[in-house]
Amino acid sequence: MIPPHIKALILDMDGVIWKADAPIGDLPATFKRIRERGLKFVFATNNGTKTQAEYQEKLAKLGVEVETNQIVTSAMGAGFLLAQKHPKGTKIFMIGEAGLRLALEERGYEILGVENAQAAEAVIIGIDREINFQKMAEATLLVRSGAPFYSTNGDTTFPTPRGEIPGSGAWFSVIVTATGVEPIIAGKPAPYLMELSLAKLGASKAETLVVGDRLETDIAAGQAVGCPTALVLSGVSTKAQAERWRPQIDLIADDLAGLVG
Ligand SMILES: [Mg+2]
Repeated sequence: MIPPHIKALILDMDGVIWKADAPIGDLPATFKRIRERGLKFVFATNNGTKTQAEYQEKLAKLGVEVETNQIVTSAMGAGFLLAQKHPKGTKIFMIGEAGLRLALEERGYEILGVENAQAAEAVIIGIDREINFQKMAEATLLVRSGAPFYSTNGDTTFPTPRGEIPGSGAWFSVIVTATGVEPIIAGKPAPYLMELSLAKLGASKAETLVVGDRLETDIAAGQAVGCPTALVLSGVSTKAQAERWRPQIDLIADDLAGLVG
């Protein structure tokens, strides 16, 4: 089903590779087929809680062997975005987990916690399973005093085996309500993850297919940078929603195995 001119894939993970940690289809067979076809690929996810090494390990457990540099997260997108706006050494108040901390430290930023938040020059928020009142209060004070405000992604929910729980977009909505300021977002549909992925692939936009399960993030991001797009119906968006989406999606498949053929 993938046209012959396509040389590379940018793959979303949740809803494409797994759903609430359970693999979607026979992943070893699907990736064998991808490799046989000579397609290069990277994974690009709005979930910035895990590091590249943690995703590599999770994929390996499902029988998919990849290099760490084949993984692009919204935390890395945040590092890429901040690097365009702030010099190394900038003090950043972070609400987030290991994946975001590592991505910002790799860019040379100094990460502040609640104890020294007042010295921060910018604020970033992602998923933080140890979020609390004081963290939200410090972020609000900083944003109200004019500190630039960023988020890893705007997803309002986050999938777990028991269902959807509040995502980064739900948490930052508290700060938006308290300040009237919207964050600059690193994740899809913003172009940063696509740009990072294309640079890793070394492929042109026209020969790189963006594959995802969510129209307003994955497909919108691919279309924003001018790549062809494919929606798989194994996750969030439905066929009826996909058929109404404009600009038109290039390919629609039941799942990744069906897309690869
Ligand atoms: Mg997804």
